[in-house]
Amino acid sequence: MIRVPFLDLKSQYSSIKGEVNPAIQNVLDNAAFILGEEVTQFETEFALAHDARYCYGVSSGTDGNHLVLWALGVGPGDEVIIPVNTFIATAWGATLCGATPVFVDCDIDSYNIDPSEIEAKITARTKAIVAVHLYGQPADLDPLLEIARKHGLYLVEDCAQAHLAEYKRKKVGSLSDASSFSFYPGKNLGAYGEAGAVATNDSEVAAKFKMFRDHGSDRKYYHETYGHNYRMEAIQAAVLRVKLRHLQGWTEARRRNARRYDEYLRGLPVIVRPAEMNYAKHVYHLYVIRTPHREELQKHLETKGVATGLHYPVPLHLQKAFQDLGYRQGDFPVAEKVSKEILSLPMYPELTEQQIKHVCDSIMEFID
Ligand SMILES: *Cc1c(COP(=O)(O)O)cnc(C)c1O
Repeated sequence: MIRVPFLDLKSQYSSIKGEVNPAIQNVLDNAAFILGEEVTQFETEFALAHDARYCYGVSSGTDGNHLVLWALGVGPGDEVIIPVNTFIATAWGATLCGATPVFVDCDIDSYNIDPSEIEAKITARTKAIVAVHLYGQPADLDPLLEIARKHGLYLVEDCAQAHLAEYKRKKVGSLSDASSFSFYPGKNLGAYGEAGAVATNDSEVAAKFKMFRDHGSDRKYYHETYGHNYRMEAIQAAVLRVKLRHLQGWTEARRRNARRYDEYLRGLPVIVRPAEMNYAKHVYHLYVIRTPHREELQKHLETKGVATGLHYPVPLHLQKAFQDLGYRQGDFPVAEKVSKEILSLPMYPELTEQQIKHVCDSIMEFID
């Protein structure tokens, strides 16, 4: 039987082993393990890839989420508007600043934050809106920018799932006040450990990124401000520099795989395929379908050797971690419905046509 794992990091590694191993060896030989030349080089290359003026390597996407809001001055008592259907790390950005996440429902087609739901949530304490480019598809940034401008709020992007994605032909990550990226191993650009980055076009925000990630200091043992240790490791930067050279090709392979899924699944009853919005270049971190028979389909696929995932099974307002915020079942009907129906199919550049056909044949068999 054909097996289709949800992710296949081993096959990607074997395709770049000849480049990655010497890059790591080089860091070991130089014995400069934190920040340094390797990280600076990566920052320059990554900023270029996203048309951002400034980029800093950090220790994870979660740390990047925090750093972005921290550098914009978000603090205790402030409120930050966040889509309710995202990975919880988006909300940690706000809570780590001592601010309160304020959730907003999503749009049924794009699964991204619904701009029409935002203004009702703005109060005198609101400081920022976080746009998450969920599954690799950019959120609709123009209406978000307009709302932010009208109310004097910051707009920031969580690009953890959206490396090289485009909104109206412009790269995400440079289209708002500041943005964060994750290089968690399973992301479209993945390190071999924890890593992330922050980006901005604003030189003052950039200066804060640089200080805050390194103990509030740009000269060893002289500390100008509060800070933290959010530095990137050189080994991760070396791995990421190699992988960045392949990212364009891998992204096109993801898009080709998405089109193959689309073709096989087109016209099937009870399956909703992902919609690529007309303003978006989707980079398919995840290929997420929707069906009212999610549980049964997931079980059926498992018997066929197809691994699937749920992103995410519980919207943030119903997470135990946020029970103190006082939300209830029914507060976000779209996200609640979606959370019960979504199913993430295997998606990575190395997926073969034969594997995709097997996944889709198995889905058709289930429907029959
Ligand atoms: C993965 C992810 C993060 C967190 O990134 P880490 O590098 O794992 O800390 C944040 N936001 C979203 C939307 C993510 O998918």
